[in-house]
Amino acid sequence: MDKLKQEITKLAREIGINKVGFTTRERLADAPPSGDLTYVLPGAESAISLAVALDKQAIRDFLSKKDQMAHTRDHRASYMKVIKAGMAIEKLLQEMGYEAKALWPNYEYRKGQPFLAMVPPLSHRYVAVAAGIGWLGWSGNVLTPEYGATVSLLSVVTSAELEPDKPMEQRDTCDKCRLCAASCPGYFISAKEETAVNVAGNAYKHNKKAHNARCEVSCGGANGVRNRESKWSTWSYKVLDLPEPGNDEKFMRVVQEYAREPDNRLLRILLDAENLSLPPLESAGPFMDRMLFTCGNCMLVCWPDLEERKENHRLLTTSGRVVRGEQGPVVVKQG
Ligand code: SF4
Ligand code: SF4
Repeated sequence: MDKLKQEITKLAREIGINKVGFTTRERLADAPPSGDLTYVLPGAESAISLAVALDKQAIRDFLSKKDQMAHTRDHRASYMKVIKAGMAIEKLLQEMGYEAKALWPNYEYRKGQPFLAMVPPLSHRYVAVAAGIGWLGWSGNVLTPEYGATVSLLSVVTSAELEPDKPMEQRDTCDKCRLCAASCPGYFISAKEETAVNVAGNAYKHNKKAHNARCEVSCGGANGVRNRESKWSTWSYKVLDLPEPGNDEKFMRVVQEYAREPDNRLLRILLDAENLSLPPLESAGPFMDRMLFTCGNCMLVCWPDLEERKENHRLLTTSGRVVRGEQGPVVVKQG
């Protein structure tokens, strides 16, 4: 490994990053447009991918609706950790005379795209896959051999020419259990339909996702159930009665009708997510402190071991529903 890569890896490890990988503009040439490093840095040659694992016990307590906040705090902390490492690597590279840019781990989208296309400036997933951190599972999330999909990712783009790591050999760790699809309240992840994507010389097949707003609305907390009768929910007590997959036009009409209701301020904010104004990365702390996680189920259930994944799904779907109580959200089991 060359000296600069060693230095970057050491710095990231000291901050608590679990996995570090390197890739190049060239390696990402076959990826979809959001894998283009030059969109964020015209002179980009390489990218560094950082991954931090989430706490497993906090995930189980979250899925089983015992405790929302332990995972929320852990997830926020994981974002802050990749941000801290990203900024430190950016500074190191800039001090050496290279251009470098650390990106937000989430919440940032390209401007001037169709309504709610939600294209990130750079896909951390494609960068991570090209950098050998993991491979794309059926959910479209990055699956690592050690932590499954339960990682927070961030990329740093640079003009430095760094030797790329080998993308992981495609292994059959995603066994197509479809528990990610079965855990999604928004019908965003299809259990049946698939689509193909190339990244760094490998061909992946993952689910054919529905309209991005289906995840945005449910993961953002404006909907917690598949339908009004659902026996389980996310940590959101909101009910939008979303149409089932296959009719995204109807879905958008339904969502926009709900957004008109005075009570649905959160939904209005989410539908305007592409115009969210983010602070500079160095001021991310107060922004992150306001984040309350209600879903993320597709990644949280996806652990490497199938039996553990089944248990995660069981915990999610047998732990009842969150409803609005007088003092705030309460969990109720439905018979
Ligand atoms: S939950 Fe199952 S199907 Fe979905 S990505 Fe994980 S291993 Fe693959
Ligand atoms: S985060 Fe939640 S709503 Fe979004 S795709 Fe995953 S399971 Fe579905």
